[in-house]
Amino acid sequence: MIDDDKPHEECGVFGAWNVADAAAITALGLHALQHRGQEATGIVTHDGVRFHSHKGLGLVGDNYGDAKVMAGLPGPRAIGHNRYATTGDTVLRNVQPLFAEFEFGGFAVGHNGNLTNAHTLRKALTRRGCLFQSTMDSEVFVHLIAISLYSNVVDRLIDAIKQVIGAYSLVALTNEHLIGVRDPLGVRPLVLGKLSGADGKAGWVLSSESCGLDIVGAEFVRDVEPGEIVLIDDSGVQSIKPFTPQKPRFCVFEYIYFARPDSLMEGNSVYSARKKIGAQLAMEAPAEADVVVPVPDSGVPAAMGFAEASGINFELGIIRNHYVGRTFIEPTDQIRHLGVRLKHSANRAMIEGKRVVLVDDSIVRGTTSKKIVEMVRQAGAKEVHMRIAGPPTTHSCFYGIDTPERGKLLAARNSVDEMAKLIGVDSLSFITIDGLYKALGKPGRDALSPAFCDACFTGDYPIALTDNNEARDTQPSLLAEMS
Ligand code: SF4
Repeated sequence: MIDDDKPHEECGVFGAWNVADAAAITALGLHALQHRGQEATGIVTHDGVRFHSHKGLGLVGDNYGDAKVMAGLPGPRAIGHNRYATTGDTVLRNVQPLFAEFEFGGFAVGHNGNLTNAHTLRKALTRRGCLFQSTMDSEVFVHLIAISLYSNVVDRLIDAIKQVIGAYSLVALTNEHLIGVRDPLGVRPLVLGKLSGADGKAGWVLSSESCGLDIVGAEFVRDVEPGEIVLIDDSGVQSIKPFTPQKPRFCVFEYIYFARPDSLMEGNSVYSARKKIGAQLAMEAPAEADVVVPVPDSGVPAAMGFAEASGINFELGIIRNHYVGRTFIEPTDQIRHLGVRLKHSANRAMIEGKRVVLVDDSIVRGTTSKKIVEMVRQAGAKEVHMRIAGPPTTHSCFYGIDTPERGKLLAARNSVDEMAKLIGVDSLSFITIDGLYKALGKPGRDALSPAFCDACFTGDYPIALTDNNEARDTQPSLLAEMS
């Protein structure tokens, strides 16, 4: 598990239909989505007759650079998945896509997100005799499809997604279709793209983010809509909307941190959104300073926006070592301390004797922020002010983002002043929730009908936390977390 004191996406998905060498296209797409999961990866292809599969631990480049692996994945149709393991127990049986053989043919599925009633459904399915092979939520979809009384795969899939509750985007491959699905509130992202097909007809791709389309030269067509199923075959894209429409609640943290800055989310440039958030932050929480320094890499666009709006010079006062993706030694407290320096070092020439505004996207436990502040002070900064391009993270995410339990979130236990003392800064400010909405083009946060999921900042969870509610009787610690 990565220990950089940031929340993490738990998965990225990609799918391709009617493209020459779908496995290679999918591997490229997964490479662009590597930031959404680095622990394991899998691709399932279909060659028109049979399905083929590869699953492996590690990065995309560690798996699909092998010519033998790629030769074993023939066909013009594929889906792929990158996994981020939350428990550190990544084993191959938990690597997606998951494949099952049904009476109607093969079915492969991979998903990004989290079902909030997975545990409850699992218990019910197990009582009905279903034998689970893994701990993946995708397997819940597979069993629900298996026991559905409908006759065709699409009706069975609809039957299954009507029983699950959660935030998810999924890609599936059958003998006849590439399928993409987004949850009814559209919390997790999924986009549709088009490129030249293998036979002169159109080829189609699905990706968690549009950066996955760019890498394969696909044209961005549109977001898959919240609650929509897209059914793709050689005749084109069919849209099915089995749910009563609801106001979407896209994950606002995708804009702040998760998505790649070159991606489009809801048709908006993530990079531009981050710059606007930085500019709003500068307006709300100005600082008397000589230099604006981003905490790389995710804090860079917000820091640029902050610098532009405040008229303070922007400098790369912290340099990131791109060849150390994670702390590779056992994460004891002492090594964690060193781990920060493996990734970041202070650029003394830009910091010494200066009043520095550090701009970052979030503070989770605060451990990394504290070390970075210490490092900047040791490099000779006269003052260190910290500005955060997200509101205080006060609640855990149950919708597919790995965040620590609530008790470990610094902002859940401390006021902003207390946090400033703990981190060791001269001043600390966060963008307000209204300011965040304004930077994203909304008039502010409408408390009765917010435009985004922002539960990690507000505790306003838009999707029922069924499993947690069920666990209340038996796990008192969850009670505290949910209160
Ligand atoms: S709780 Fe936060 S991280 Fe999770 S989906 Fe909502 S906004 Fe995104």
